[in-house]
Amino acid sequence: MADSSSREGGARYTTAAITDYVNRVHAGHDGGLARAFATPADMPAIQVGQSEGRLLHLLVRLTGATKIVEVGTLAGYSAIQMASALPPGGHLWTIEYSPVHAEVARANVANAGLADRVTVEVGAGLDVLPRLAAHGPFDLVFIDADKQNYDSYGKWAVANLRKGGVVLGDNAYFFGKLVDEGDTGARAMRAFHEHVAATCDSVCMPTPDGLVFGIVK
Ligand code: SAH
Ligand code: MG
Repeated sequence: MADSSSREGGARYTTAAITDYVNRVHAGHDGGLARAFATPADMPAIQVGQSEGRLLHLLVRLTGATKIVEVGTLAGYSAIQMASALPPGGHLWTIEYSPVHAEVARANVANAGLADRVTVEVGAGLDVLPRLAAHGPFDLVFIDADKQNYDSYGKWAVANLRKGGVVLGDNAYFFGKLVDEGDTGARAMRAFHEHVAATCDSVCMPTPDGLVFGIVK
């Protein structure tokens, strides 16, 4: 069978030891990040990887973003990566459905010294996003919550980002099911991809589960 990944330079040379090495060399954690990365035992460890978190941090710096929205907070790891790159006066609103996760995240954000720059909004993304619109337009939106609503989140993001603003979507391969025909989650994820592609200059980067990256036209 033709292997398009080899033509894309996609041979998989990564090993656990290499991942550990590059994370240590480039993406080390300070105390605040380490605490948020170590999710409690009763919380799923589904935060972005260390290098992806570091990439989020660098993208915030690179874009000079001052207003950020995140959908899906968990323990606040990605929120801390992004908020720690904000300039003074910048702000990140992060939406979390679970009040338990939101409480853990608030404590981690405060521990990282970022309480004044981060608001953890408790509720479903679809309910909270419309009330955040008044704070926009935004510079960056990071989507990392329930996958069946990615198409709605993506539409909100593009509509509420400034021209040149950045939309990011994690788990863009949908756990390997992105091109499954009958799966409604996969259909929503494909609608997200296609809306971003139609409205942005975009790419889907081959992180472990894919990361959509778009710049609004
Ligand atoms: N961005 C985080 C990981 C988020 S995991 C990080 O990388 O550190 C996904 C989170 O989305 C979970 O905490 C889950 O409770 C939350 N979630 C699930 N459905 C949601 C919804 N409808 N609205 C907002 N958050 C939701
Ligand atoms: Mg994710």
